[in-house]
Amino acid sequence: VAAAVLVVRHRMRNSGKWAKAMDILREFEGKCGTPISKLRQVADAMTVEMHAGLASDGGSKLKMLISYVDNLPTGDETGIFYALDLGGTNFRVLRVKLGEVENVKKEFQEVSIPPNLMTGKCEDLFDFIAGELEKFVATEGEEMQIPAGTQRELGFTFSFPVKQSSIAGGTLVRWTKGFNIEDAVGQDIVEELTKAMERVRLDMRVSALVNDTVGTLAGGRYSDPNVIAAVILGTGTNAAYVERANAIPKWQGLLPKSGEMVINMEWGNFRSSHLPLTEYDESLDNDSLNPGEQIYEKMISGMYLGEIVRRVLLKMAEEAEFFGDTVPSKLEKPFILRTPDMSAMHHDSTPDLKVVATKLKDILEISNTSLKMRKVIVELCEIVATRGARLSAAGIIGILKKTGRDTLKKGEENQKSVIAMDGGLFEHYTKFRNSMQNTMNELLGEEASRNIIIKLSNDGSGLGAALLAASHSQYREYEST
Ligand code: BGC
Ligand code: MG
Repeated sequence: VAAAVLVVRHRMRNSGKWAKAMDILREFEGKCGTPISKLRQVADAMTVEMHAGLASDGGSKLKMLISYVDNLPTGDETGIFYALDLGGTNFRVLRVKLGEVENVKKEFQEVSIPPNLMTGKCEDLFDFIAGELEKFVATEGEEMQIPAGTQRELGFTFSFPVKQSSIAGGTLVRWTKGFNIEDAVGQDIVEELTKAMERVRLDMRVSALVNDTVGTLAGGRYSDPNVIAAVILGTGTNAAYVERANAIPKWQGLLPKSGEMVINMEWGNFRSSHLPLTEYDESLDNDSLNPGEQIYEKMISGMYLGEIVRRVLLKMAEEAEFFGDTVPSKLEKPFILRTPDMSAMHHDSTPDLKVVATKLKDILEISNTSLKMRKVIVELCEIVATRGARLSAAGIIGILKKTGRDTLKKGEENQKSVIAMDGGLFEHYTKFRNSMQNTMNELLGEEASRNIIIKLSNDGSGLGAALLAASHSQYREYEST
């Protein structure tokens, strides 16, 4: 009898804990809700902030940075150009031979950035980059040689907010993602790179400095004239789009002949009372390298989704003994659960959720989970990914609204609007991608959504930067447009 009482007590205590864990999960789920009505408010707020950011510097959390790109590639670009892409954990160097659109020859190399350089000194980072670039230049084959007597030219994709002073110059506003190199903030990025290239005696000119969204837009437009915007969903998130130059009150310069200007929105820094923020988002933000900034990015992008999941699981472990009476110590480690691992768990289609079990064991050293627990973890991934996907869809709707492309207009029923997409989150996280696409269709309605096309533009930004280097080449003859 005594033993039976103990078993019953044990079960009651466990079911109490389970109920508590489910309370935590349900409360989180409730706060993450993104019904269509809310998404419409987010989209509208995005449009409003876009207007405010275009009106004046500092007019909005959305910087709406002027890119100085007022002409997008046409397909007529020729020559051999270099590109450099810096913005995540890897950087990439490229050499492209432009000719016919279908026949671009590309050579590239990817180098991972030593983590200590991401938070060290400006000079060290640029010395490393220039060194790698120099090594890459040394591999130039016969076919990829530039004409004798000319200087190599480079398009530099730099995926952080930059206040540009021209197409080939601009100062770093602030770091985002995992970077934090204090002495680089406020510096001219092109000058820093140029000095580092001089230190290794690499004779190369930076002809274009572009954000990755702007590069992706240029790369996308090269092969598809209907591309009007680009969105990155990767480690970070951001968007760029083609704006009418006379709709940019803060633009003091001459109106470009094209009448257009590409705007780097820096939408990662979007913030609105309509965003479904939770206590986990708040603590993640507080503990981050950039508290108070990039709030939208922190709810959406690849750097953070896995970390949100970890924080909810930690709370369930601490307050409801979800993983037993001790809190697994690995679970206390920030950023240990990466978004690719979260995605693998989320997509686990084995009947007993073997992938989830393996990930828990390998990453968090948690074993002996029940199927029921693993199902809860998959559900948690679903909540976090769905919220991010739906919020990013709302952001895109905001851009379409701003540009008047969210509804069918008389006489323009067949006008297509293509959004060039890049980033590992979009490319590899299938459930995220599908949820985003479905949400866009839901928000646009069946008719309008037929004309809005999301197109994966894999590494379009490298090509785009090379194309912009070509159209801003020092050797280009002056063309009036
Ligand atoms: C940066 C943007 C960039 C985006 C995607 C964000 O953190 O602020 O400049 O475009 O990440 O790489
Ligand atoms: Mg990138």
